[in-house]
Amino acid sequence: MGNADTIAALASAPGQAGIGVIRVSGPQVETLMKAVVGRVLTPRMACLTKFRDASGSMIDEGIALYFPSPRSYTGEDVLELQGHGGPAVLRLLLRRCLDLGARLAEPGEFTRRAFLNDKLDLTQAEAVADLIEASTEQAARSAMRSLQGEFSSLVHDLQRSLTDLRVGIEATLDFPDDEVDDLHQDRARKQIRNLVAAVGAMLKMARQGSLLRDGLRVTIIGRPNVGKSSIINRLSREEVAIVTAIPGTTRDLIRQSVEIRGLPVHIVDTAGLRRAEDAVEEIGIARTWEAVAQSDVALIVSDLSVNDPEPLTDICARLPVGLRRIYVHNKVDLVGQAHRLTSSAGIDEIWISARTGSGFDLLEDLILKVVEWESVGESVFIARERHVLALAQCRDRLESALEILSQTELVAEELRHAQLALSQLTGEVTSDDLLGEIFSRFCLGK
Ligand code: GDP
Repeated sequence: MGNADTIAALASAPGQAGIGVIRVSGPQVETLMKAVVGRVLTPRMACLTKFRDASGSMIDEGIALYFPSPRSYTGEDVLELQGHGGPAVLRLLLRRCLDLGARLAEPGEFTRRAFLNDKLDLTQAEAVADLIEASTEQAARSAMRSLQGEFSSLVHDLQRSLTDLRVGIEATLDFPDDEVDDLHQDRARKQIRNLVAAVGAMLKMARQGSLLRDGLRVTIIGRPNVGKSSIINRLSREEVAIVTAIPGTTRDLIRQSVEIRGLPVHIVDTAGLRRAEDAVEEIGIARTWEAVAQSDVALIVSDLSVNDPEPLTDICARLPVGLRRIYVHNKVDLVGQAHRLTSSAGIDEIWISARTGSGFDLLEDLILKVVEWESVGESVFIARERHVLALAQCRDRLESALEILSQTELVAEELRHAQLALSQLTGEVTSDDLLGEIFSRFCLGK
């Protein structure tokens, strides 16, 4: 078992800083503490002390904090040494801990131990990483909500209702089918329907939370010279792409991350789609299609001031079916039109000018609208694709239970699977592979 090991790592960011923190966790913390600071510290009291090497010379002076098990982040004995934040001094201090028997922690290992010792459930552990990685303030707030257990408590509510339902259904299993009366079935139908609705609502929230965590991927496509680079520059409020009147200037992808109303948005400007004139352009065009395949929304840009000899139908025909599209007619200033927006029969079109900026507020709103992003503000919690999939699985199982309501045994089986899907969320049922996958993505020292 890994937990017999004592682990140590730099818990603050590498590089120079005011302070740097080394964190140690595991059974040897007490011995290690006696060697480095010369005594057993009062639990949870900041103590100004000298950190010493094997010969007794001082490595640094700083604050030491001792959190005996179980009241610590990991649930084990934990020692935090806060020294001066220089790379060399922190290396010496870390080396000293390793010489005393600790080993270097793997990424996420402190949090993994917290999970294994029931300090956090899996969604909370994931929220720790999401909070650290959050790129917008809203993402950080939402991660904090998940970390506080809001997501987990909603999952637990669902689990409780599902357990009640299963108890009821399984109790009828001992009776032959024809004795399970209509009343029972009606009640079960009602309960399952309520659960489908509750899981559906949760799924919607998880989709938003996952968008908030991973960001929305928007790709700008169109013929050369229609204004794609000018659009990415305007959306990012800086000159990230070269704008020229020469067609075919953008030959490789240009990526820029921006924030629209608190949502991280990753925009890709692509090579203009036309028949390639040389090998470089050809590669650029191939990459454009790769970017399109990975995106959530495509802005399909055209130039109002020219009659495109080759209409965009060929491009549109190649777009993936599920990709949300916005048809952007650029350069309204050249044709004396005002910016406007139309949405009819599921087709969203917008008229803008990348030169004057006219219509960009509408464009930003439209991008959020097509992915059904609601600025639900305070109620969003951070979520991952994994959560979305588990909730969808749970809902599918419940729906199939509804379809076979008279076959009690099969219903019981579907409900068991629905519950299993929910348990994966909080980590009650997880494989080592999944845990490895989740924790290995953490930064070192967390
Ligand atoms: P791209 O090849 O599609 O990336 O197009 P660019 O952004 O490089 O723009 C091509 C040319 O069109 C440049 O000379 C831009 O200044 C010009 N342009 C882009 N958008 C507008 C616009 O809204 N109005 C006007 N008048 N010119 C624009």
